[in-house]
Amino acid sequence: ASQKRWVYPDTPLFRQYQGLREKAGEALLFFRLGDFYELFGDQAVEVSRVLGLTLTSRDRNKSNPLPMCGIPARSLELYLPRLVSLGYRIAISEQTQPDLESDGMFAREIVRIVTRSTLIEDPSLEGGQTKNGVCIVRMDESVAISSLDLSSGHLAVFEPQNKGDLDAILDWMASKSPVEILIADNELSVALSGIDHQRMSPSEIPLTELLDVLPQGFEFPVLSPASERALSTLISYVASLKAGIIHHLTGVTVEKTVGTLVIDRASIRHLDLVPDQEDRKKNGSLLEVLDQSRSSLGSRMLRRWVLAPLSDRETILLRQWIVKRMDENPRWADRIGDILGSTGDIERILGRIGMKGRLPRDLGGIRDGIQGAIELAKMPEWTELLPDHKRDASIEILSAMVLRLSGALVDDPPVSCGESPVIRDGFDAELDGYRHFEREGDQDLLKIEERERRSTGIDTLRIRYNQVAGYYIEVTKGQVSKVPSHYFRKQTLTGVERYTLPELMDFEQRIAESRSRAQQREFALLDELTTLVLSLSAQIQRMAEFLGTVDALLSFARVGKKRQYVLPSFSMDGAMSITNGRHPIVEARLMSGTFMPNDTNLGSGTFVLLTGPNMAGKSTYMRQLALIQIMAQMGAPVPADSAVLPIVDRILTRVGANDHILEGESTFMVEMKEVARVLRDATSKTLVILDEVGRGTATFDGMAIAWAVSEYIHDHIRSMTLFATHYHELHALTEKGQRFLNQSVAVRIEGGKIFFPHRISSGHSSKSYGIDVAKLAGVPEVVIERATRILEHWNRQKPFKAISDGLSQLPEKDSGALPLFNWKVRSDKPTQSS
Ligand code: ADP
Repeated sequence: ASQKRWVYPDTPLFRQYQGLREKAGEALLFFRLGDFYELFGDQAVEVSRVLGLTLTSRDRNKSNPLPMCGIPARSLELYLPRLVSLGYRIAISEQTQPDLESDGMFAREIVRIVTRSTLIEDPSLEGGQTKNGVCIVRMDESVAISSLDLSSGHLAVFEPQNKGDLDAILDWMASKSPVEILIADNELSVALSGIDHQRMSPSEIPLTELLDVLPQGFEFPVLSPASERALSTLISYVASLKAGIIHHLTGVTVEKTVGTLVIDRASIRHLDLVPDQEDRKKNGSLLEVLDQSRSSLGSRMLRRWVLAPLSDRETILLRQWIVKRMDENPRWADRIGDILGSTGDIERILGRIGMKGRLPRDLGGIRDGIQGAIELAKMPEWTELLPDHKRDASIEILSAMVLRLSGALVDDPPVSCGESPVIRDGFDAELDGYRHFEREGDQDLLKIEERERRSTGIDTLRIRYNQVAGYYIEVTKGQVSKVPSHYFRKQTLTGVERYTLPELMDFEQRIAESRSRAQQREFALLDELTTLVLSLSAQIQRMAEFLGTVDALLSFARVGKKRQYVLPSFSMDGAMSITNGRHPIVEARLMSGTFMPNDTNLGSGTFVLLTGPNMAGKSTYMRQLALIQIMAQMGAPVPADSAVLPIVDRILTRVGANDHILEGESTFMVEMKEVARVLRDATSKTLVILDEVGRGTATFDGMAIAWAVSEYIHDHIRSMTLFATHYHELHALTEKGQRFLNQSVAVRIEGGKIFFPHRISSGHSSKSYGIDVAKLAGVPEVVIERATRILEHWNRQKPFKAISDGLSQLPEKDSGALPLFNWKVRSDKPTQSS
């Protein structure tokens, strides 16, 4: 409607514009005009406002001038990401017909629509991020989810082992950090209304029939119907945004939870595994601590690893082995680092070529990147460390490609065609011919100039060229009388007259022709090279995967050295034992030496009841163990002096209230749903972290639930569990089961101040310090005294003690308890107060 406010000139150009606007729908139309993308009318006003660009107008003198806002085509990379992150969709229209007939009008088409997940413009700032779009579909009882990162060509699909397990779907989705979510099912769309998503209709077209999108050679895996539909719906969506084959899609990864450490979405958030997209104020994440990689390929690989560590001992040990080698052989590591630092992001470069086609600079990027990759891949060390026949096979084909690209392309190709020569002299005889003609033409021109100067006697006579007038003879006003009569006047300017001759016109035409022939020939050659590169997409992606892996491992070696981490070993009996363990993120944030390390010694199936006042360090300690476990299963070194760890299948976390209020359910309901999930999904190989379970309801309810949950996990599931609780009464559980273990974090009150030594010690804390803190905070003395009296009264009554004593005397079912595991607490060092 607002489009009507502006009067568009009634010209062919604006008729074209309005036609495309119609097609673009809600999207912003970037209308290509020469070196700019122009926006007009309402969209010009809006974009100039949000991007802070100058608003101009056509025909300033008219009463209601049409606003316009131009974005230089070269700066597309700068502005697109900003608009997309603000939630806009952008329809990019390009001039599609070459400018051979110059009636002034290009044909224009919308070549693609850019959304969060189809954005491939990639300022280096975002190189470490993935840009996954995901799609969830349901078919009968089954639910499946697919993901596509168009910038790199990663396409994956997942279907939970338990049919229709929505929790597993949501965990998998969280591990992809999606930027765009599609849900192709009404019921699911309602069920997941708390998640920002678009509803779509599921595609009925089988994957194998999407051949106008998927390139030749695409490897079709064998899939369940639901997985198939999840993929075809997602790909159809992408196809609706970009016409034509997406050349860098080479196949699908069918992801399974087997072999990976499954981290639920609550843990991803609570453990700060990756930087929080929404909450940028939060400081630090595991990924940021670990990321010392030299390339975006390495950063993205690390992100994948952090969100999906391994659970397969062999592969973990292989990674460790390479990290160790890098650590022991710094010269080798440095050489690897140098190569990685200069190979560039070949995965995304390939993605751009796959999406946009003819990009000379990116072809140069592939040439240089693959050359580096081959050098790295040929290092003899890999044959022992990372043998891979597919890589060996790729090297040969890719070497031939590099040779071809090096022979064809100039050293530094321009960003786009037509800016400067792209193909080397001497590569193609036909092109050389046209170029030769052009150069000879210059000689001819000089000859004509010399001849005319002599024959007319006008010594200031010059032959010049500009884009509008073409070639002309220029004579200054003072010498015009000497101009012979066979000269045709072309233009009069102040001070000079311009003329032409039939010979010159003829010359101009020939030059123009050879120029355009040369350009057409360059285009053809570039297209040939582009086709060659795209036909090797799978091999290039395999190389990118290799570079990313090596970079991520090098990052481990570097961070391990920098922060004094150790490579852990793995226990066979499921026990965990850590000396001087630290929390990697908190440690990195604190001044060096101020983090208080703690020892851990837990047997398989140990259930720790962790008590202590607020701010004592309970959460930090529990997260520390989970993070160390995750790092270990990535194959990374861990923040400790030594560590022997179990290999766990899952990490499940249930953490204190308040971050869920947005989801619109009562906190207690959410809390209980998460508890239910822990009880359903945890196994004896799971690491469970419970922070303040039962807090969302009345004390007695809460304590009763906490008690029963603890018993159930201890007796039946036998997961290694850490449970931080305010219910001191739960300490009595140790009388009920041998694997229960009381630990506490104490604080010290000294000279009217409260100190937090952050030391974990054995036994439960009997005191909650609530009243002490109230006093320190300045609560009036009378109130403090009264509170103290009330507390004494309750302590005399011992209502809770009675309850817990009673409970521990409830008839006990046979729990099949293991013998008490031998745990120890680190010896008392002088404490340090913060
Ligand atoms: P709780 O869970 O007991 O309320 P937290 O784990 O949230 O306490 O810790 C409170 C504060 O103490 C945090 O700001 C944390 O950074 C700091 N802290 C916790 N453990 C340590 C430690 N071992 N060394 C140094 N600072 C710590």
